[in-house]
Amino acid sequence: MFVVGLTGGIGSGKSTIAALFAKRGVPIIDADMVARDITQAGQPAFDEIIQHFSHFNLIKDGTLDRTKLRQIIFKDHAERMWLENILHPLIRKEIQQQLHRLHAPYSIVVIPLLFEVKPYSFINRILVVDAPEHIQIERAANRDKASKDHIETIIKTQIRREDRTARAHDIIINDGKLADLEPQVQKMHDMYLKLSKEENKS
Ligand code: ADP
Repeated sequence: MFVVGLTGGIGSGKSTIAALFAKRGVPIIDADMVARDITQAGQPAFDEIIQHFSHFNLIKDGTLDRTKLRQIIFKDHAERMWLENILHPLIRKEIQQQLHRLHAPYSIVVIPLLFEVKPYSFINRILVVDAPEHIQIERAANRDKASKDHIETIIKTQIRREDRTARAHDIIINDGKLADLEPQVQKMHDMYLKLSKEENKS
């Protein structure tokens, strides 16, 4: 399976662009959704997280209190590392299992922090969504009903914009209207169909 990793900073437009590929029949796997699934009650990571953070009481209505967990790891780097060490191997394994079950010329895996972690072995090509920081802040603050300062703090924890685009195979620029995205997505889609055909032949 030819796999495109779709990444970009918070509020850059990853989900919006993934939806445009989905409209064209491309299967989408979202790493954030996978992370949510594997931390549901009864799933492998759930008990481990609850036990590790037992002094914080992270169970709310029988489920993991994600807001509280986010606040803890936002302030404590060591705890963030611990959580990532637990989650990342499980996320990768689950994504690969989902990819194996798919039948399509290619698929897209949305990975917000693609460059911030160790490389994903199953990705053939990296597509970056790029937008100027002030637009990212505006969009994400509106979407999450969060303060601009909060979004700015998150952006500071992510790879720098120029380093992200420097490491991309392909870039979609999302600094204008939603309608501007359609032709860019179509162009990438045509190219990925072609590339996946060549890859599947060899
Ligand atoms: P990400 O997944 O990268 O965090 P989203 O796709 O959720 O970003 O986009 C952030 C917010 O901005 C969403 O509310 C989305 O609807 C909006 N948005 C994205 N692109 C545009 C655009 N070109 N014009 C207007 N709103 C946009």
